[in-house]
Amino acid sequence: MGNITFTMIKPEAVAANNIGGILSMIEKGGFRILAMKKVQLTSERAAEFYSVHKERPFYDELVQYMSGGPIIAAILEKDNAVADFRTLIGATNPAEAAEGTIRKRYATSLSENAIHGSDSDDNAKIEADFHFSSQEIF
Ligand code: ATP
Ligand code: MG
Repeated sequence: MGNITFTMIKPEAVAANNIGGILSMIEKGGFRILAMKKVQLTSERAAEFYSVHKERPFYDELVQYMSGGPIIAAILEKDNAVADFRTLIGATNPAEAAEGTIRKRYATSLSENAIHGSDSDDNAKIEADFHFSSQEIF
């Protein structure tokens, strides 16, 4: 496995039938999908995944949102995967996201922003391991 990042298509984007459009932007962006599944996080799993934010005022809302419907979880491979994927998804707040980014096109608000991307190589590995076993990665 080369350089990887981890992503989730978030519940409101899945509910809005935007899985295909977002995956198309990911593949056109040069990322290879090494693993992928549709899954609904329990609130406990969502709380654990975002535990870095547990002191933030939006934490409870974030956990409720991320466990409120199924997501698409995926491991993506590309040279410079983490940084290049953050560029492809755009700013956290879609109002600040650049033209041509996934969040500019699909995110509806700061809290419901369509997609997650890892913020470091170490977290990409931790997040990939959180969602996938080695037998699910190709
Ligand atoms: P992600 O980790 O999901 O890729 P990010 O790295 O761009 O997003 P973070 O600062 O890690 O942004 O925030 C995690 C998520 O928490 C955001 O994607 C968004 O869904 C939510 N969030 C962040 N800031 C706020 C806020 N001020 N109000 C409400 N929700 C927020
Ligand atoms: Mg983040």
